[in-house]
Amino acid sequence: MGTATLTIDRDAIAANWRALDAASDRTTETAAVVKANGYGLGIAEVGQCLARAGARKFFVALTEEGKELRKAIGAGPEISVLSGHMDGDAPLLRDYELTPMLNSAEQMVRHRGHLPGKPFGVQLDSGMNRLGIEPADWAALRPGLLKESPRLLMSHLACADEPDHPQNQAQLRAFREMTDGIDVPRSLSATGGTLLGPDYHFDLTRPGVGLYGGAPFMDAKPVVQLSLPVIQIRDLAPGESVGYGAAWVAERPSKIATLAAGYADGLIRAMSGRATLWAGDQPCPLAGRVSMDLLTVDVTDLDHSPAHLDLLCPHQGVDALAEVAGTIGYEILTSLGGRYDRVWIGEAA
Ligand SMILES: *Cc1c(COP(=O)(O)O)cnc(C)c1O
Repeated sequence: MGTATLTIDRDAIAANWRALDAASDRTTETAAVVKANGYGLGIAEVGQCLARAGARKFFVALTEEGKELRKAIGAGPEISVLSGHMDGDAPLLRDYELTPMLNSAEQMVRHRGHLPGKPFGVQLDSGMNRLGIEPADWAALRPGLLKESPRLLMSHLACADEPDHPQNQAQLRAFREMTDGIDVPRSLSATGGTLLGPDYHFDLTRPGVGLYGGAPFMDAKPVVQLSLPVIQIRDLAPGESVGYGAAWVAERPSKIATLAAGYADGLIRAMSGRATLWAGDQPCPLAGRVSMDLLTVDVTDLDHSPAHLDLLCPHQGVDALAEVAGTIGYEILTSLGGRYDRVWIGEAA
């Protein structure tokens, strides 16, 4: 088969959720962030797996994602939308029972107008300056808003993957100043903040990337394996070149394997000449540039002709691959292509 296989381990996702849940005490609930198609893996399967593991609260970025998730996990679990209530969102919010995290006075007016009495949460800006109501505006809006019983007051940390960064404590302080004494559940932390300790846990944590095996959750179980079929192997004489731009030139008699995946599958071009593929325990360097549907790999040192090579495997996780490509594990995960054959393993009981 010419299709690459992305093997996804449900048990590892469930174990990562349980481990992050165990990082906070019983008074803190652990949600699951499944935006961007469950970080590229598949929102329906990821959602079902996490619901079985025990997650009762989910976060998505967009209402469309919330619709897909609701269809997959059914009624019951709360699904919150981080982009809030945008123009035109009301029908999906209502029909799929989604809870928008309102980000501005404008969104509040829209929510009251279109879905009066329907649930919502409030996103506050504690210093990231990306989404959420700023402290001064919150002071003005809060008396009216609190009468409408928001489900959650939340904010997001900008530097939680750097535990010693002074902005963590500054945002913690700002969040507490905005929310102390209010009898509404609170949430500040994603994966990184969850690992910063109990001061950052409040009533609900919102891990995403750690569930899928990514940093900064260093104890995460790896979730994905990516195996690419070899289409063809050829012999090169010294001086012959490989691929676009003739960027790789054989310095010795070489064997080049051509594999069925490329930048259209999320194997970004920045991996060119840098990434390593694996034949079991044996490393094979990428030779030349990544093209749209193909990779070329130097397999000269193998004692056999491989049927496939792995790009994500026990030797090279999402963060290690990200590192060589000059990016982060989040981008590797969320770029995983739609053409891969996604094979789900594990029970996730
Ligand atoms: C993406 C996101 C999360 C999850 O972040 P991770 O770093 O993947 O754990 C949580 N909260 C908000 C507001 C987000 O945008």
